[in-house]
Amino acid sequence: MFRKILIANRGEIALRVVRACREMGIKSVAVHSTADSDAMHVRMADEAICIGPAPSVESYLSVPAIISACEISGADAIHPGYGFLSENANFVQIVEDHDITFIGPSAEHIRMMGDKITAKETMKALGVPCVPGSDGGVADLDAARRIAGEIGYPVIIKATAGGGGRGMKLARDAAALDNAFRGARNEAKAAFGNDEVYIEKYLDTPRHIEIQVFGDGRGNAVHLGERDCSLQRRHQKVLEEAPGPAIDEATRARIGAICAEAVAKIGYRGAGTIEFLYENGEFFFIEMNTRLQVEHPVTEAIFNVDLVREQIRVAAGEPLSFTQDELRITGHAIEVRINAEKLPNFSPCPGLVNTFHAPGGLGVRMDSALYGGYRIPPYYDSLVAKLIVHGRDRPEALARLRRALGELIIDGIDTTVPLFFDLLEEHDIQRGDYTIHWLEKFLAERLAG
Ligand code: ADP
Repeated sequence: MFRKILIANRGEIALRVVRACREMGIKSVAVHSTADSDAMHVRMADEAICIGPAPSVESYLSVPAIISACEISGADAIHPGYGFLSENANFVQIVEDHDITFIGPSAEHIRMMGDKITAKETMKALGVPCVPGSDGGVADLDAARRIAGEIGYPVIIKATAGGGGRGMKLARDAAALDNAFRGARNEAKAAFGNDEVYIEKYLDTPRHIEIQVFGDGRGNAVHLGERDCSLQRRHQKVLEEAPGPAIDEATRARIGAICAEAVAKIGYRGAGTIEFLYENGEFFFIEMNTRLQVEHPVTEAIFNVDLVREQIRVAAGEPLSFTQDELRITGHAIEVRINAEKLPNFSPCPGLVNTFHAPGGLGVRMDSALYGGYRIPPYYDSLVAKLIVHGRDRPEALARLRRALGELIIDGIDTTVPLFFDLLEEHDIQRGDYTIHWLEKFLAERLAG
């Protein structure tokens, strides 16, 4: 087992990894920018090293700085968290070239899934159902018109290198295609430096259902059911729950087995998430994330497993600590993402947190790097806390969420907490009856009304 793990991240996820390390008796090293000297992950880790100035490119994304920090501290492994360098295959290669273990999949698998066209081709070949669309990249407008005509409108143009909801444009009909195609290309070029796009059938009323998988890198893999992440704003998840209100046991077993088999076949190592759109009882693969997801705690809650601990174990060459048969779901879990943002426009709202009080009690988990007196720097993601509740069933989880939100105090800045109180009042949310468009519609109606 590792002696010391360097965490190449910040905020709540860095803290999350520190916690797993401590329980496993492994020393942790935090890295931070000059803007994060007072951050909680710096205080909680066993050691901390400043790796550069505030902008991420000069600190959290600086490969030389992170490798140096590893060598200075004597860490033998790196946990990347999510975001930043977590899905950067070149980084993984460099880490391994320095004889440091990367806690995650191989560079090859990250590369394979990071390119969405290769990912889709691979999954299709492995028997995973995919969204109908172009076979590979679409070179020009003529090809785009022909392919869109074949699969039928509406279509969505997506960036091969896409992520974070960027480089995606909808075309409802042929007249809208030219603009959508150019728009997606320009956005892809600007965001990812790669303007290759592909075309998919646009599904009108799907849910976003993702399957958590885990491979040991030696051809064995399990699935840990699904998460429903349909409640999204601008293709970004806002609330996630597990199990999915629309998924029954037989459906879970079927799609779970397909996913576990697929990753077992490629010899995948570590945690991964296979994302699907789910409509009329059918699953359509959209992408695979080769890292820990923000919303992993809902899965941890219902299966009573520590996914970060498993990541560390597998990276160290140890077997998974559970088999598929041992994985049983208990109850229902919901996570809300609390952002430092001002409603109704979700404008970033960093600043001084005067008072912070986390809710507690049975079935309540708060993953946050906030504390009273902390000044949230303006340079990074606006996610400041994740509140996760677990109940015996969905109604209990909802009641618990309402109770926990009522106990939470984040004083001094605006957050997205009021949105969750409003959502809990909605019948559709109470019944679990929503698609990926529900939240956008709800927000638009509220702005209009
Ligand atoms: P990213 O990597 O940028 O997050 P994804 O491919 O995961 O992109 O898609 C993000 C979200 O965009 C999905 O959860 C869904 O809401 C929407 N989306 C993607 N593809 C389609 C599609 N073919 N039809 C309808 N919505 C889609």
